[in-house]
Amino acid sequence: MGLVSKILGIIIAISGIAVLWFGSSDPVWSFGYYIVGLILMSVGLTLVTSRQSTKEKKPPPPTVTEIRCDDPECTFKEIRDFQKGDYILKPMESECPKCQSPMTIHGVYVIREEEPE
Ligand SMILES: [Zn+2]
Repeated sequence: MGLVSKILGIIIAISGIAVLWFGSSDPVWSFGYYIVGLILMSVGLTLVTSRQSTKEKKPPPPTVTEIRCDDPECTFKEIRDFQKGDYILKPMESECPKCQSPMTIHGVYVIREEEPE
């Protein structure tokens, strides 16, 4: 599919250039041809470039870090975005907002689907 859309994009872009080129000779329609040519060119170039960029720039899956309070009596649990350097059982510098006990990272998860609210 990637190659087909690429070829299609090149054809559309070339036809856009052709419209720009041949349309300019007619003063009445030149502006309309100019717009159509520009649209065709941009659509064609988008088709050519978009496939490549999506393959190269694959966004990393969203990752969250689960932080829990060290106090077994306390049920405080926080889920926040994964930050560089997070690992399981890493002691947190911040204290529990509930009981001021130290907190530890209990899990690092990759979210595959969006969680329902
Ligand atoms: Zn706590």
